[in-house]
Amino acid sequence: MKTTIINLTLIIFGLTAGFAQTDTLSIENVNIIPVYENILLRNQRVVVGNGKILRIEDVSKASEYPMAKQIDGSGKYLIPGLHEMHYHWRNKEGGIERDFKLLLANGVTTVRNMAEYDWQDHIAIRDSIDKNQLMGPNYYTSGPYLQSGDLKTSADIERIIAQHYNKGYDFIKIADNLPKDIYLKVLERAADYNIPVMGHAQREMDLEYSLRMKSIEHVEEFVYLFGDEQRRDSLFLKNAVEQIKNSGIVIVPTLVVFDMIVKCLDDNSFAKLKEKEVATYMLNGDHGYWASDDNPYRQNLKGKVINGMDALPLLEGYFEWMKNFTKMLAKKDVPMMTGSDTFGFVVPGFSLHEEFQFLQEAGLSPYEILKASALTPARYLGSIATEGTITEGKNANLVLLNKNPLEDIKNTKTIEGVLLKGEWLGRDQLDSFLKEVESLNH
Ligand SMILES: [Zn+2]
Repeated sequence: MKTTIINLTLIIFGLTAGFAQTDTLSIENVNIIPVYENILLRNQRVVVGNGKILRIEDVSKASEYPMAKQIDGSGKYLIPGLHEMHYHWRNKEGGIERDFKLLLANGVTTVRNMAEYDWQDHIAIRDSIDKNQLMGPNYYTSGPYLQSGDLKTSADIERIIAQHYNKGYDFIKIADNLPKDIYLKVLERAADYNIPVMGHAQREMDLEYSLRMKSIEHVEEFVYLFGDEQRRDSLFLKNAVEQIKNSGIVIVPTLVVFDMIVKCLDDNSFAKLKEKEVATYMLNGDHGYWASDDNPYRQNLKGKVINGMDALPLLEGYFEWMKNFTKMLAKKDVPMMTGSDTFGFVVPGFSLHEEFQFLQEAGLSPYEILKASALTPARYLGSIATEGTITEGKNANLVLLNKNPLEDIKNTKTIEGVLLKGEWLGRDQLDSFLKEVESLNH
């Protein structure tokens, strides 16, 4: 599914430094959070060459590698590259390079793209990254997401699944309620082609049907999958969590995007949302749209009554329930992955760290959150041989932090540098990515 060619001479957008990293470099005296278990390895040397982690050893040892570059990791913390598992490319202006700069500056080294709109070609993007023609995170993509209108007959299913297979998408994404016979046929044909199916839940069917997919996107889906009574019934929920756990499915909560939606319904919160610091990385046009009353949530939900209840308290209640349910899933060790949905004020890269904080607020430990952003996604994507933990032989996709994220997950924001396929992107480089994105607005 993925190949990485490292020893090529490269052309990179807007960057002067050579990208293919062949020289050996080390991070000296660093504290490693390897994420394969909840431990911290102090005072280590990590040797990186040809894009791989060659050696992890106590820093007191003499190194047998000639080092072209040494990075002082004293008092710093090294974590695996982060996974944004629910990404969308929403804005054409600035190209996908704009989003990649935001993602890399935030330590995101793997992305799962969740849709293909008609002006996009994510297979070409994935190929360019794999060939090192485009600097970007490891890239996985679904095709255009499928809705009931796309899948009316058996013939539609045959044609669309064959198309997705031939194009080479990594996943099939369902984003709608489908008739039962259609849904089951999609799962069956996708399995014949060996393409995983994931997406939103099937709200009209029992839970078990949705659990046949590889992952469920948005914990919000469980709000609608369960009835009002069921959401308040602790025995029902306990059994549902058990069933979810047994199925082996992976859940991507995307709490941050629901928080944004709720905030759009309240004038005070909305005013703050518009002023949030990272809004400076939104395109002018995009910000103008989301900050206005054309914002679809202001338009369609603000001040509305849904099922006899005002939308704002209703959604606030949903959000509390979603956090509680996320906690229940975590307590039962249901595999989870971090994703943010990236639209509106949910700005790519930054939004993943906001999601971490919502997960922490819901009751996940910092370690559980790091696992959901590294180890679990690597297992899910089939890249566990080379990604997801800090161990010898793995790809050198790593993030160096100034503060310990195991103490508070907000410390994942203290990024000193990122190793992308072994290439060191220091704070200056990351800041220049951010400046380039900001400058698109002036
Ligand atoms: Zn999505």
